[in-house]
Amino acid sequence: MKVLVVEDEAKIADFVCAGLREQGFTVEHCANGTEGFEHASQGGYDAIVLDIMLPGRDGLSVLKGLRKAGVATPVILLTARNELEDRVEGLALGADDYLAKPFFVEELIARLHALVRRVSGERQNVLAVGKLRLDRISREVTWFEHAVDLTSREFNLIEYLMRSPGRVLTRTQILEHVWGYDFDPSTNVVDVCIQRIRKKIHSIAADVESPIESVRGVGYRFRKLDAGAE
Ligand code: CA
Repeated sequence: MKVLVVEDEAKIADFVCAGLREQGFTVEHCANGTEGFEHASQGGYDAIVLDIMLPGRDGLSVLKGLRKAGVATPVILLTARNELEDRVEGLALGADDYLAKPFFVEELIARLHALVRRVSGERQNVLAVGKLRLDRISREVTWFEHAVDLTSREFNLIEYLMRSPGRVLTRTQILEHVWGYDFDPSTNVVDVCIQRIRKKIHSIAADVESPIESVRGVGYRFRKLDAGAE
């Protein structure tokens, strides 16, 4: 696990970095906010430990800048004991956790582990292909950031297709997976359901090609879309 520590007080930085390295973390350290922002925005970290009071750019400004730039790396803020307002503001700006000084490095390590576990768990619950995003927990689907109102069956069908972008799934496979029991193979429930999903997606972005492709005589395939596809 690779962690960026942004902390100007040498004593704190030393014990944090040493403690993390001892536990097998890969650690990089920056002693001011400007440098911290530059490193953090290049990405590649599993988490960032960010002090609030920093020379150069302060921690809250660094955090705000990162979230604005779309950097979603989990952040733990280090706050002084009485900085309640900073903590509240930090959480509002997108910090994932905070730790008040003084603290034990063991606690920081425990929080880092919990945070990274939580974030990777959340990531697995979200499928994203191109501009289509599906959340397995809330069961919400968005297309170009607009909610697509799907029935439970439609949701299960699109989830099944999205799990294997580029792969053709036959009507029988879809029937078995989404309807869960043997249907008369001549039934057209799959086609009807796909049509409904396409219509809903089309109503959001009419000039965009449907992400669900028909493969004549076989079944359906979810297009491989890259994140920038529009
Ligand atoms: Ca400081």
